[in-house]
Amino acid sequence: MSPAPSFFETVNSYFDKAAALTDYPPGLLEQIKVCDSVYAFQFPIRRQGGYEVISGWRAQHSHHRLPVKGGIRFAPTVDEDEIKALSALMTYKCAIVDVPFGGAKGGVRIDTKQYSVQELEQITRRYTAELIKKNFIGAGLDVPAPDYGTGPREMAWIYDTYSAFYPGAIDAMACVTGKPVTQGGIRGRVEATGRGVYFGLREACDQAEDMKALGLSTGLTGKTIVVQGLGNVGYNTARFCQEAGCVIVALSEREGAVYRRQGLELDAVVKHQKQTGSILNFPGATNLTPTNLALEVECDILIPAALENQITGENAPRIKAKIVAEAANGPTTADAEKILLDRGVLIIPDIFLNAGGVTVSYFEWIKNLSHVRFGRVAKRFEEASYDRMVSAIEKATGRGFSSEERHAIVRGADEIDLVNSGLEETMITAYRQVHEQWKGDSRIQDLRTAAFLTALHKVATTYLELGIFP
Ligand code: NAD
Repeated sequence: MSPAPSFFETVNSYFDKAAALTDYPPGLLEQIKVCDSVYAFQFPIRRQGGYEVISGWRAQHSHHRLPVKGGIRFAPTVDEDEIKALSALMTYKCAIVDVPFGGAKGGVRIDTKQYSVQELEQITRRYTAELIKKNFIGAGLDVPAPDYGTGPREMAWIYDTYSAFYPGAIDAMACVTGKPVTQGGIRGRVEATGRGVYFGLREACDQAEDMKALGLSTGLTGKTIVVQGLGNVGYNTARFCQEAGCVIVALSEREGAVYRRQGLELDAVVKHQKQTGSILNFPGATNLTPTNLALEVECDILIPAALENQITGENAPRIKAKIVAEAANGPTTADAEKILLDRGVLIIPDIFLNAGGVTVSYFEWIKNLSHVRFGRVAKRFEEASYDRMVSAIEKATGRGFSSEERHAIVRGADEIDLVNSGLEETMITAYRQVHEQWKGDSRIQDLRTAAFLTALHKVATTYLELGIFP
């Protein structure tokens, strides 16, 4: 038996499937597919009276647009193949949501649970210094962001390290996104990926014909969901879906999963997890171990939001969900995908569905370069204009508005309003483009191929317009 394809090989097989539907020159397709630059490095940290050597990577998949952009992952499973695969996904993701960046990804092979906060800070700062040495970070070059195992805290350390190396650099803040708001971050970034998953899923479930084909009603209300991974993406996706009327029937974490057919209250499970150190033994729910049993629970929508290679050829035949919503990167292997597609499952692919994070990172980057918060300049002016309009309507109609009505109408947009509205617009527009590609070409059988093809056309057009491939 031949070995299972690696993650990067799997991503490239999806690319090839889409590329076969185009007539771009093979050289151009090869250039889009390869990873332009990969930097692998080791560095020592002081630990427990001795030293430990840490492995890190940064892959820049495509320089067709600069800067390149992509998260930094801290996980014990990180290797070069994974980072290259994730960087490629970033190129296609940015193209799909029209974020003008090439793709990149970084990683450090550590289990964060085994290190103190001081050690994590040392590792993050040293990792950043390694990137600086090779020009692998900078507002116009390569802009990291959070991913699995990292968050605003690590992004603040990266920014602080970078600005210490480049004192006075006016664009230093734009060297990394996902920072805390007090450090130049943008409101709404923490929950952006989960909110984007929700917008994308809502748009998919609003397509009456697609839902009918699955034997489901239109809309999210009442749909049963299972969420794997209660980190940044999983928690926020579950939260927005529950607020929209979805019923969470199972939640899984590393140690196991909890199941309740009538539904689980997300925040109560998270509170229980904080109090006991585990989601297991949540009152009224059934424990499921091993944790991956959660993937096989009967539900309408399965949302993997942890790591890659979770839905495999082995467990795919037992998966009962009608929709697989890929909040994580690469959760479905190619052989699993075939099994699910043959059964008519709708797979909403990662390169579209989890693009909310990079979309809001793009807004943060613009904010950092312009040095002004969204909404700051226009808000009062807009409010004064709306106020005059409301007064004119009152005068013309003789109908007075209550102070609550007036307040709701005249309120100008804050940063968070503009971020969320920009994100919603981006996810809806991107879904419609990918969906149109799918339905408009009888050779395309699935949304992933449509998404890859959409991305491929956009990246190829940039190369062709650059005149590199006449
Ligand atoms: P995170 O570290 O915040 O959370 C991941 C969670 O998954 C953790 O709580 C972890 O304990 C849990 N987990 C690990 N193995 C598990 C298993 N086998 N079963 C159940 N739970 C398990 O990471 P995140 O930022 O939420 O990233 C999750 C996924 O989303 C990754 O694939 C990442 O690449 C992708 N993603 C993240 C972002 C972002 O903005 N953070 C953006 C796009 C895509």
